[in-house]
Amino acid sequence: QELDTPQLFGHPKGLFYLFFAELWERFSFYGMRALLMLYMTEEVYRSLVDRDDIAGTIYASYGGLAYATPVLGGMLADRLLGFRRAITIGGIFMALGHFVLAFENEVCFFMALALLIVGNGLFKPNISSFVGALYPTGDKRRDSGFTLFYMGINTGAFVAPLFCGWLGFSYGWHYGFGAAGIGMVAGLIVFRLGIANGIFGQHGFASDEEYLKNKFAGISIKRWVPIIAICIVPLVALIMYYGQIYIPLIGEVHYEGQVVEYIFYIILAVILAVIVSTMIQVSKAERQQLLVIVLLTMFMTMFWGGQELSGSTLTLFAFRNVDLVGMNASQTNSITALVIILLALPFSWMWVRLSKLRTNPYTPYKFGYGLLFLGASYAMFAWSGSFASELGKVPMWTFVAGYFLMSTGELFMSPVGLSKVTELAPAKVVSFMMGVWFLSSSFAFRIVGAVGKYLAVEGAAEDVDPMESLMIYTEGFESIAFLVVSGAAMVFVLAPLMKK
Ligand code: GLN
Repeated sequence: QELDTPQLFGHPKGLFYLFFAELWERFSFYGMRALLMLYMTEEVYRSLVDRDDIAGTIYASYGGLAYATPVLGGMLADRLLGFRRAITIGGIFMALGHFVLAFENEVCFFMALALLIVGNGLFKPNISSFVGALYPTGDKRRDSGFTLFYMGINTGAFVAPLFCGWLGFSYGWHYGFGAAGIGMVAGLIVFRLGIANGIFGQHGFASDEEYLKNKFAGISIKRWVPIIAICIVPLVALIMYYGQIYIPLIGEVHYEGQVVEYIFYIILAVILAVIVSTMIQVSKAERQQLLVIVLLTMFMTMFWGGQELSGSTLTLFAFRNVDLVGMNASQTNSITALVIILLALPFSWMWVRLSKLRTNPYTPYKFGYGLLFLGASYAMFAWSGSFASELGKVPMWTFVAGYFLMSTGELFMSPVGLSKVTELAPAKVVSFMMGVWFLSSSFAFRIVGAVGKYLAVEGAAEDVDPMESLMIYTEGFESIAFLVVSGAAMVFVLAPLMKK
Protein backbone atom coordinates (compact mmCIF):
# COMPACT_ATOMS: atom_id res chain seq x y z
CA GLN A 1 0.00 0.00 0.00
CA GLU A 2 1.10 3.55 -0.62
CA LEU A 3 2.39 5.62 2.26
CA ASP A 4 -0.10 8.46 2.53
CA THR A 5 1.54 10.64 5.19
CA PRO A 6 5.02 12.25 5.45
CA GLN A 7 7.70 9.88 6.78
CA LEU A 8 10.62 10.45 9.15
CA PHE A 9 13.36 8.05 10.32
CA GLY A 10 11.58 5.16 8.65
CA HIS A 11 8.23 5.80 10.40
CA PRO A 12 5.23 8.02 9.65
CA LYS A 13 6.11 11.52 10.83
CA GLY A 14 2.83 11.59 12.75
CA LEU A 15 4.19 8.92 15.07
CA PHE A 16 6.62 11.43 16.52
CA TYR A 17 3.88 13.98 17.17
CA LEU A 18 1.72 11.33 18.81
CA PHE A 19 4.77 10.12 20.73
CA PHE A 20 5.31 13.53 22.32
CA ALA A 21 1.61 14.24 22.83
CA GLU A 22 1.20 10.92 24.66
CA LEU A 23 4.47 11.44 26.51
CA TRP A 24 3.12 14.64 28.03
CA GLU A 25 -0.32 13.20 28.67
CA ARG A 26 1.25 10.29 30.55
CA PHE A 27 3.50 12.79 32.32
CA SER A 28 0.36 14.38 33.69
CA PHE A 29 -1.32 11.05 34.47
CA TYR A 30 1.61 9.48 36.28
CA GLY A 31 2.79 12.70 37.90
CA MET A 32 -0.57 12.97 39.56
CA ARG A 33 -0.73 9.24 40.32
CA ALA A 34 2.65 9.35 42.06
CA LEU A 35 1.28 11.89 44.54
CA LEU A 36 -2.32 10.74 44.88
CA MET A 37 -2.02 7.98 47.52
CA LEU A 38 0.40 9.85 49.74
CA TYR A 39 -1.63 13.03 49.37
CA MET A 40 -4.67 11.18 50.69
CA THR A 41 -2.97 9.17 53.46
CA GLU A 42 -0.61 11.91 54.63
CA GLU A 43 -2.81 14.95 54.07
CA VAL A 44 -6.53 14.62 53.38
CA TYR A 45 -7.31 11.63 55.62
CA ARG A 46 -4.18 11.89 57.75
CA SER A 47 -5.89 11.71 61.12
CA LEU A 48 -8.21 8.78 60.36
CA VAL A 49 -7.44 5.31 61.61
CA ASP A 50 -8.59 3.70 58.37
CA ARG A 51 -6.95 6.22 56.04
CA ASP A 52 -5.14 3.47 54.05
CA ASP A 53 -8.42 1.76 53.43
CA ILE A 54 -10.20 4.95 52.34
CA ALA A 55 -7.34 6.15 50.16
CA GLY A 56 -6.89 2.73 48.60
CA THR A 57 -10.57 2.53 47.72
CA ILE A 58 -10.57 5.99 46.17
CA TYR A 59 -7.42 5.15 44.21
CA ALA A 60 -9.01 1.93 42.96
CA SER A 61 -12.31 3.63 42.08
CA TYR A 62 -10.47 6.38 40.23
CA GLY A 63 -8.23 3.96 38.33
CA GLY A 64 -11.10 1.61 37.56
CA LEU A 65 -13.28 4.38 36.13
CA ALA A 66 -10.38 6.09 34.30
CA TYR A 67 -9.80 2.85 32.39
CA ALA A 68 -13.51 2.06 31.95
CA THR A 69 -14.43 5.27 30.11
CA PRO A 70 -12.10 4.47 27.14
CA VAL A 71 -14.73 2.01 25.83
CA LEU A 72 -17.18 4.90 25.51
CA GLY A 73 -14.53 7.36 24.34
CA GLY A 74 -13.36 4.88 21.72
CA MET A 75 -16.87 4.19 20.50
CA LEU A 76 -17.62 7.91 20.31
CA ALA A 77 -14.52 8.52 18.19
CA ASP A 78 -15.21 5.58 15.86
CA ARG A 79 -18.82 6.47 15.26
CA LEU A 80 -18.98 10.22 15.55
CA LEU A 81 -16.05 12.39 16.44
CA GLY A 82 -12.94 10.95 14.85
CA PHE A 83 -9.64 10.68 16.71
CA ARG A 84 -8.60 14.32 16.29
CA ARG A 85 -11.58 15.83 18.08
CA ALA A 86 -11.82 13.14 20.73
CA ILE A 87 -8.15 13.51 21.66
CA THR A 88 -8.39 17.30 21.79
CA ILE A 89 -11.48 17.34 23.99
CA GLY A 90 -10.04 14.60 26.22
CA GLY A 91 -6.80 16.51 26.61
CA ILE A 92 -8.60 19.71 27.60
CA PHE A 93 -10.61 17.82 30.23
CA MET A 94 -7.50 16.21 31.66
CA ALA A 95 -5.61 19.51 31.82
CA LEU A 96 -8.57 21.06 33.63
CA GLY A 97 -8.65 18.09 36.01
CA HIS A 98 -5.04 18.55 37.04
CA PHE A 99 -5.49 22.28 37.55
CA VAL A 100 -8.64 21.80 39.62
CA LEU A 101 -6.71 19.31 41.75
CA ALA A 102 -4.30 22.10 42.54
CA PHE A 103 -7.04 23.66 44.71
CA GLU A 104 -7.23 22.44 48.25
CA ASN A 105 -10.86 21.57 48.71
CA GLU A 106 -12.89 18.39 48.82
CA VAL A 107 -15.35 19.34 46.08
CA CYS A 108 -12.43 20.25 43.82
CA PHE A 109 -10.76 16.95 44.68
CA PHE A 110 -13.63 14.78 43.44
CA MET A 111 -14.46 17.07 40.51
CA ALA A 112 -10.82 16.86 39.44
CA LEU A 113 -10.79 13.07 39.55
CA ALA A 114 -14.01 13.06 37.51
CA LEU A 115 -12.52 15.40 34.89
CA LEU A 116 -9.51 13.10 34.61
CA ILE A 117 -11.74 10.04 34.28
CA VAL A 118 -13.84 11.54 31.47
CA GLY A 119 -10.76 13.07 29.81
CA ASN A 120 -8.80 9.83 29.85
CA GLY A 121 -11.74 8.05 28.24
CA LEU A 122 -11.64 10.43 25.30
CA PHE A 123 -7.87 10.64 25.04
CA LYS A 124 -6.19 7.33 25.79
CA PRO A 125 -7.80 4.79 23.42
CA ASN A 126 -7.92 7.24 20.55
CA ILE A 127 -4.31 8.30 20.60
CA SER A 128 -3.28 4.63 20.62
CA SER A 129 -5.62 3.82 17.72
CA PHE A 130 -4.37 6.90 15.87
CA VAL A 131 -0.85 5.43 15.97
CA GLY A 132 -2.18 2.24 14.40
CA ALA A 133 -4.07 4.22 11.73
CA LEU A 134 -0.81 5.71 10.42
CA TYR A 135 0.36 2.28 9.28
CA PRO A 136 -1.27 0.61 6.26
CA THR A 137 -2.62 -2.93 6.84
CA GLY A 138 0.16 -5.48 6.91
CA ASP A 139 2.87 -2.81 7.38
CA LYS A 140 5.81 -4.56 9.06
CA ARG A 141 6.76 -1.39 10.94
CA ARG A 142 3.61 -1.42 13.08
CA ASP A 143 5.11 -3.38 15.99
CA SER A 144 8.25 -1.29 16.14
CA GLY A 145 6.09 1.86 15.89
CA PHE A 146 4.23 0.71 18.99
CA THR A 147 7.48 -0.12 20.76
CA LEU A 148 8.58 3.48 20.21
CA PHE A 149 5.17 4.75 21.32
CA TYR A 150 5.39 2.63 24.47
CA MET A 151 8.78 4.20 25.15
CA GLY A 152 7.14 7.61 24.84
CA ILE A 153 4.47 6.57 27.35
CA ASN A 154 7.12 5.46 29.78
CA THR A 155 9.36 8.47 29.26
CA GLY A 156 6.44 10.54 30.54
CA ALA A 157 5.83 8.02 33.31
CA PHE A 158 9.52 8.15 34.26
CA VAL A 159 10.08 11.90 34.37
CA ALA A 160 6.74 12.85 35.94
CA PRO A 161 7.08 11.15 39.36
CA LEU A 162 10.62 12.51 39.66
CA PHE A 163 9.52 16.06 38.92
CA CYS A 164 6.03 16.18 40.43
CA GLY A 165 7.21 14.05 43.37
CA TRP A 166 10.01 16.54 44.05
CA LEU A 167 7.63 19.51 43.80
CA GLY A 168 5.00 17.76 45.90
CA PHE A 169 7.39 16.88 48.72
CA SER A 170 9.52 20.05 48.66
CA TYR A 171 6.96 22.77 47.94
CA GLY A 172 3.54 21.25 48.54
CA TRP A 173 1.20 18.73 46.93
CA HIS A 174 -0.62 21.29 44.87
CA TYR A 175 2.49 22.42 43.02
CA GLY A 176 2.99 18.81 41.97
CA PHE A 177 -0.59 18.55 40.69
CA GLY A 178 -0.27 21.89 38.91
CA ALA A 179 2.90 20.72 37.16
CA ALA A 180 0.97 17.70 35.90
CA GLY A 181 -1.56 20.06 34.33
CA ILE A 182 1.17 22.01 32.56
CA GLY A 183 2.46 18.71 31.14
CA MET A 184 -0.97 17.96 29.73
CA VAL A 185 -1.18 21.40 28.10
CA ALA A 186 2.22 20.76 26.50
CA GLY A 187 0.89 17.47 25.10
CA LEU A 188 -2.15 19.21 23.64
CA ILE A 189 0.00 21.86 21.99
CA VAL A 190 2.21 19.22 20.34
CA PHE A 191 -0.87 17.41 19.07
CA ARG A 192 -2.50 20.54 17.66
CA LEU A 193 0.80 21.52 15.99
CA GLY A 194 0.80 18.15 14.24
CA ILE A 195 -2.71 18.85 12.97
CA ALA A 196 -1.88 22.42 11.94
CA ASN A 197 1.11 21.17 9.94
CA GLY A 198 -0.93 18.50 8.13
CA ILE A 199 1.25 15.72 9.56
CA PHE A 200 -1.59 13.21 9.85
CA GLY A 201 -2.71 13.41 6.22
CA GLN A 202 -6.34 12.38 5.89
CA HIS A 203 -6.37 10.28 9.08
CA GLY A 204 -8.29 10.89 12.26
CA PHE A 205 -11.29 12.73 10.86
CA ALA A 206 -14.86 11.82 11.75
CA SER A 207 -16.41 9.12 9.57
CA ASP A 208 -18.99 11.72 8.50
CA GLU A 209 -17.74 15.28 8.96
CA GLU A 210 -20.87 16.81 7.41
CA TYR A 211 -23.13 15.07 9.90
CA LEU A 212 -21.31 16.77 12.78
CA LYS A 213 -22.37 20.16 11.46
CA ASN A 214 -26.06 19.32 11.77
CA LYS A 215 -27.78 21.40 14.39
CA PHE A 216 -29.81 20.21 17.28
CA ALA A 217 -31.63 22.87 19.33
CA GLY A 218 -29.51 25.48 17.54
CA ILE A 219 -26.20 23.91 18.55
CA SER A 220 -24.12 21.76 16.19
CA ILE A 221 -23.63 18.10 17.09
CA LYS A 222 -19.88 18.56 17.44
CA ARG A 223 -20.49 21.22 20.12
CA TRP A 224 -23.00 19.00 21.90
CA VAL A 225 -20.36 16.38 22.69
CA PRO A 226 -18.20 18.52 25.01
CA ILE A 227 -21.35 20.00 26.55
CA ILE A 228 -22.70 16.55 27.41
CA ALA A 229 -19.27 15.43 28.61
CA ILE A 230 -19.13 18.45 30.94
CA CYS A 231 -22.54 17.51 32.35
CA ILE A 232 -21.33 13.97 33.03
CA VAL A 233 -18.41 15.21 35.13
CA PRO A 234 -20.37 16.14 38.29
CA LEU A 235 -22.19 12.83 38.01
CA VAL A 236 -18.92 10.91 38.03
CA ALA A 237 -17.70 13.08 40.90
CA LEU A 238 -20.83 12.15 42.86
CA ILE A 239 -20.30 8.47 42.12
CA MET A 240 -16.78 8.76 43.50
CA TYR A 241 -17.98 10.74 46.49
CA TYR A 242 -20.96 8.54 47.28
CA GLY A 243 -19.14 6.23 49.68
CA GLN A 244 -18.56 9.20 51.94
CA ILE A 245 -22.11 10.37 52.24
CA TYR A 246 -23.26 6.82 52.86
CA ILE A 247 -21.42 6.20 56.11
CA PRO A 248 -22.16 9.44 58.00
CA LEU A 249 -25.65 7.97 58.52
CA ILE A 250 -24.02 5.72 61.08
CA GLY A 251 -21.88 8.60 62.24
CA GLU A 252 -18.54 7.71 60.65
CA VAL A 253 -16.54 9.15 57.82
CA HIS A 254 -15.71 6.21 55.68
CA TYR A 255 -15.21 5.37 52.08
CA GLU A 256 -16.48 2.17 50.55
CA GLY A 257 -17.02 3.10 46.93
CA GLN A 258 -20.06 0.86 46.55
CA VAL A 259 -21.50 2.74 43.61
CA VAL A 260 -18.36 2.18 41.62
CA GLU A 261 -18.59 -1.49 42.49
CA TYR A 262 -22.16 -1.70 41.18
CA ILE A 263 -21.09 0.06 38.01
CA PHE A 264 -18.49 -2.64 37.51
CA TYR A 265 -21.04 -5.40 37.91
CA ILE A 266 -23.12 -3.69 35.23
CA ILE A 267 -20.17 -3.30 32.86
CA LEU A 268 -19.22 -6.92 33.43
CA ALA A 269 -22.77 -8.11 32.76
CA VAL A 270 -23.01 -6.05 29.55
CA ILE A 271 -19.64 -7.26 28.29
CA LEU A 272 -20.51 -10.88 29.08
CA ALA A 273 -23.86 -10.53 27.32
CA VAL A 274 -22.17 -9.07 24.23
CA ILE A 275 -19.55 -11.82 24.19
CA VAL A 276 -22.04 -14.64 24.68
CA SER A 277 -24.42 -13.30 22.03
CA THR A 278 -21.52 -12.89 19.61
CA MET A 279 -20.33 -16.41 20.38
CA ILE A 280 -23.74 -17.82 19.51
CA GLN A 281 -23.78 -16.03 16.16
CA VAL A 282 -20.31 -16.82 14.83
CA SER A 283 -18.67 -19.97 13.43
CA LYS A 284 -16.94 -22.50 15.64
CA ALA A 285 -13.46 -21.32 14.63
CA GLU A 286 -14.36 -17.70 15.41
CA ARG A 287 -15.93 -18.78 18.67
CA GLN A 288 -12.67 -20.38 19.70
CA GLN A 289 -10.73 -17.26 18.68
CA LEU A 290 -13.03 -15.14 20.78
CA LEU A 291 -12.52 -17.45 23.72
CA VAL A 292 -8.76 -17.03 23.37
CA ILE A 293 -9.19 -13.24 23.44
CA VAL A 294 -11.35 -13.48 26.56
CA LEU A 295 -8.77 -15.65 28.29
CA LEU A 296 -5.90 -13.34 27.32
CA THR A 297 -7.87 -10.38 28.66
CA MET A 298 -8.32 -12.23 31.95
CA PHE A 299 -4.58 -12.86 32.24
CA MET A 300 -3.90 -9.25 31.37
CA THR A 301 -6.32 -8.21 34.14
CA MET A 302 -4.39 -10.33 36.59
CA PHE A 303 -1.14 -8.73 35.50
CA TRP A 304 -2.39 -5.14 35.85
CA GLY A 305 -3.94 -6.09 39.18
CA GLY A 306 -0.41 -6.65 40.46
CA GLN A 307 1.22 -3.89 38.45
CA GLU A 308 -1.13 -1.02 39.31
CA LEU A 309 -0.47 -1.60 43.01
CA SER A 310 2.74 0.31 42.35
CA GLY A 311 0.73 3.53 42.69
CA SER A 312 -0.94 2.51 45.95
CA THR A 313 0.23 -0.24 48.30
CA LEU A 314 3.77 -0.33 46.90
CA THR A 315 4.07 3.46 47.20
CA LEU A 316 2.99 3.22 50.84
CA PHE A 317 5.42 0.34 51.35
CA ALA A 318 8.20 2.52 49.88
CA PHE A 319 7.18 5.39 52.17
CA ARG A 320 7.10 3.33 55.34
CA ASN A 321 9.45 0.43 54.85
CA VAL A 322 12.05 1.06 52.17
CA ASP A 323 15.37 2.65 53.04
CA LEU A 324 15.12 5.14 50.17
CA VAL A 325 18.33 6.50 48.70
CA GLY A 326 18.26 9.57 46.49
CA MET A 327 14.51 9.69 46.03
CA ASN A 328 11.29 10.10 47.98
CA ALA A 329 8.46 7.55 48.02
CA SER A 330 6.38 9.11 45.25
CA GLN A 331 9.46 9.30 43.04
CA THR A 332 9.84 5.51 43.26
CA ASN A 333 6.93 5.38 40.81
CA SER A 334 9.45 6.22 38.11
CA ILE A 335 11.45 2.99 38.51
CA THR A 336 9.10 0.73 36.54
CA ALA A 337 9.02 3.19 33.66
CA LEU A 338 12.81 3.43 33.52
CA VAL A 339 13.08 -0.35 33.22
CA ILE A 340 10.58 -0.30 30.34
CA ILE A 341 12.51 2.43 28.53
CA LEU A 342 15.75 0.46 28.87
CA LEU A 343 14.33 -2.90 27.86
CA ALA A 344 11.67 -2.01 25.25
CA LEU A 345 14.04 -1.99 22.26
CA PRO A 346 15.95 -5.14 23.26
CA PHE A 347 12.59 -6.89 23.66
CA SER A 348 11.32 -5.74 20.29
CA TRP A 349 14.59 -6.90 18.65
CA MET A 350 14.23 -10.20 20.43
CA TRP A 351 10.74 -10.76 18.96
CA VAL A 352 11.95 -9.92 15.46
CA ARG A 353 14.95 -12.19 15.84
CA LEU A 354 12.86 -15.06 17.21
CA SER A 355 10.36 -14.60 14.37
CA LYS A 356 13.17 -14.95 11.85
CA LEU A 357 14.24 -18.15 13.59
CA ARG A 358 10.56 -19.18 13.62
CA THR A 359 10.70 -19.57 17.41
CA ASN A 360 8.79 -16.44 18.44
CA PRO A 361 6.63 -17.73 21.32
CA TYR A 362 2.89 -17.87 20.70
CA THR A 363 1.11 -15.00 22.50
CA PRO A 364 -0.37 -17.08 25.39
CA TYR A 365 3.11 -18.30 26.30
CA LYS A 366 4.32 -14.70 26.37
CA PHE A 367 1.47 -13.92 28.75
CA GLY A 368 2.51 -16.85 30.91
CA TYR A 369 6.05 -15.50 31.13
CA GLY A 370 4.70 -12.04 31.91
CA LEU A 371 2.76 -13.39 34.90
CA LEU A 372 5.70 -15.47 36.02
CA PHE A 373 7.84 -12.33 36.17
CA LEU A 374 5.10 -10.51 38.08
CA GLY A 375 5.00 -13.39 40.57
CA ALA A 376 8.79 -13.22 40.88
CA SER A 377 8.60 -9.49 41.57
CA TYR A 378 6.24 -10.03 44.51
CA ALA A 379 8.39 -12.89 45.74
CA MET A 380 11.26 -10.39 45.73
CA PHE A 381 9.21 -7.78 47.63
CA ALA A 382 8.26 -10.47 50.16
CA TRP A 383 11.82 -11.71 50.50
CA SER A 384 13.08 -8.15 51.02
CA GLY A 385 11.62 -8.40 54.55
CA SER A 386 14.44 -10.71 55.59
CA PHE A 387 16.93 -7.88 54.92
CA ALA A 388 15.04 -5.38 57.07
CA SER A 389 16.84 -3.20 59.63
CA GLU A 390 15.65 -2.86 63.26
CA LEU A 391 13.70 0.18 62.09
CA GLY A 392 11.75 -2.02 59.70
CA LYS A 393 13.40 -0.63 56.56
CA VAL A 394 14.40 -2.90 53.69
CA PRO A 395 17.35 -2.01 51.43
CA MET A 396 16.53 -0.01 48.32
CA TRP A 397 18.14 -2.55 45.95
CA THR A 398 15.57 -5.19 46.87
CA PHE A 399 12.77 -2.80 45.94
CA VAL A 400 14.41 -1.86 42.65
CA ALA A 401 15.03 -5.53 41.86
CA GLY A 402 11.35 -6.31 42.44
CA TYR A 403 10.30 -3.51 40.09
CA PHE A 404 12.83 -4.68 37.52
CA LEU A 405 11.17 -8.10 37.44
CA MET A 406 7.70 -6.55 37.27
CA SER A 407 8.47 -4.35 34.27
CA THR A 408 10.21 -7.18 32.47
CA GLY A 409 6.93 -9.05 32.80
CA GLU A 410 5.01 -6.07 31.41
CA LEU A 411 7.11 -6.14 28.23
CA PHE A 412 6.00 -9.70 27.52
CA MET A 413 2.38 -8.55 27.46
CA SER A 414 1.34 -4.94 27.13
CA PRO A 415 3.06 -3.56 23.98
CA VAL A 416 2.37 -6.85 22.17
CA GLY A 417 -1.33 -6.45 22.94
CA LEU A 418 -1.60 -2.78 21.92
CA SER A 419 -0.16 -3.45 18.49
CA LYS A 420 -2.29 -6.59 17.99
CA VAL A 421 -5.51 -4.70 18.76
CA THR A 422 -4.93 -2.13 16.01
CA GLU A 423 -3.88 -4.87 13.61
CA LEU A 424 -6.73 -7.30 14.18
CA ALA A 425 -9.72 -5.05 14.94
CA PRO A 426 -11.85 -3.91 11.97
CA ALA A 427 -11.08 -0.23 11.25
CA LYS A 428 -14.63 0.87 12.02
CA VAL A 429 -14.47 -0.29 15.63
CA VAL A 430 -10.75 -0.08 16.32
CA SER A 431 -10.95 2.49 19.11
CA PHE A 432 -13.84 0.69 20.72
CA MET A 433 -11.72 -2.48 20.77
CA MET A 434 -8.84 -0.44 22.17
CA GLY A 435 -11.25 0.58 24.93
CA VAL A 436 -12.10 -3.08 25.51
CA TRP A 437 -8.38 -3.75 25.80
CA PHE A 438 -8.11 -1.05 28.48
CA LEU A 439 -11.00 -2.68 30.34
CA SER A 440 -8.44 -5.23 31.51
CA SER A 441 -6.80 -2.36 33.41
CA SER A 442 -10.17 -1.18 34.61
CA PHE A 443 -11.11 -4.55 36.09
CA ALA A 444 -7.61 -4.86 37.45
CA PHE A 445 -8.41 -1.96 39.76
CA ARG A 446 -11.03 -4.18 41.43
CA ILE A 447 -8.12 -6.40 42.41
CA VAL A 448 -6.09 -3.33 43.40
CA GLY A 449 -8.97 -2.19 45.62
CA ALA A 450 -9.35 -5.57 47.29
CA VAL A 451 -5.63 -5.98 47.91
CA GLY A 452 -5.42 -2.40 49.13
CA LYS A 453 -8.05 -3.14 51.78
CA TYR A 454 -6.37 -6.37 52.73
CA LEU A 455 -2.98 -4.70 53.12
CA ALA A 456 -4.25 -1.52 54.76
CA VAL A 457 -2.27 -0.59 57.85
CA GLU A 458 -4.51 0.73 60.59
CA GLY A 459 -3.66 3.88 62.44
CA ALA A 460 -3.48 7.62 61.92
CA ALA A 461 -0.35 9.05 60.32
CA GLU A 462 1.43 9.50 63.67
CA ASP A 463 0.67 5.98 64.92
CA VAL A 464 2.06 3.67 62.27
CA ASP A 465 4.54 1.14 63.61
CA PRO A 466 7.00 0.30 60.81
CA MET A 467 7.53 -3.22 62.17
CA GLU A 468 3.83 -3.91 62.00
CA SER A 469 3.47 -2.47 58.50
CA LEU A 470 6.49 -4.46 57.32
CA MET A 471 4.87 -7.67 58.49
CA ILE A 472 1.52 -6.85 56.87
CA TYR A 473 3.17 -5.98 53.57
CA THR A 474 5.64 -8.83 53.28
CA GLU A 475 3.06 -11.47 54.24
CA GLY A 476 0.65 -9.95 51.75
CA PHE A 477 3.28 -9.86 49.00
CA GLU A 478 4.01 -13.52 49.63
CA SER A 479 0.35 -14.43 49.10
CA ILE A 480 0.23 -12.31 45.94
CA ALA A 481 3.36 -14.04 44.61
CA PHE A 482 1.81 -17.40 45.28
CA LEU A 483 -1.48 -16.51 43.58
CA VAL A 484 0.18 -14.95 40.54
CA VAL A 485 2.57 -17.86 40.02
CA SER A 486 -0.39 -20.24 40.24
CA GLY A 487 -2.08 -18.10 37.60
CA ALA A 488 1.02 -18.32 35.41
CA ALA A 489 1.05 -22.10 35.80
CA MET A 490 -2.56 -22.19 34.68
CA VAL A 491 -1.67 -20.14 31.59
CA PHE A 492 1.08 -22.59 30.65
CA VAL A 493 -1.34 -25.50 31.04
CA LEU A 494 -3.98 -23.76 28.89
CA ALA A 495 -1.53 -22.36 26.32
CA PRO A 496 -1.28 -25.49 24.11
CA LEU A 497 -5.09 -25.64 24.01
CA MET A 498 -5.26 -21.93 23.13
CA LYS A 499 -2.68 -22.43 20.41
CA LYS A 500 -4.89 -25.03 18.81
N1 GLN B 1 1.67 1.90 31.37
C1 GLN B 1 0.84 1.85 30.21
C2 GLN B 1 0.20 3.18 29.93
O1 GLN B 1 0.15 4.04 30.73
C3 GLN B 1 -0.24 0.81 30.34
C4 GLN B 1 -1.23 1.15 31.39
C5 GLN B 1 -2.39 0.22 31.45
O2 GLN B 1 -2.95 -0.21 30.44
N2 GLN B 1 -2.80 -0.10 32.62
O3 GLN B 1 -0.28 3.36 28.86
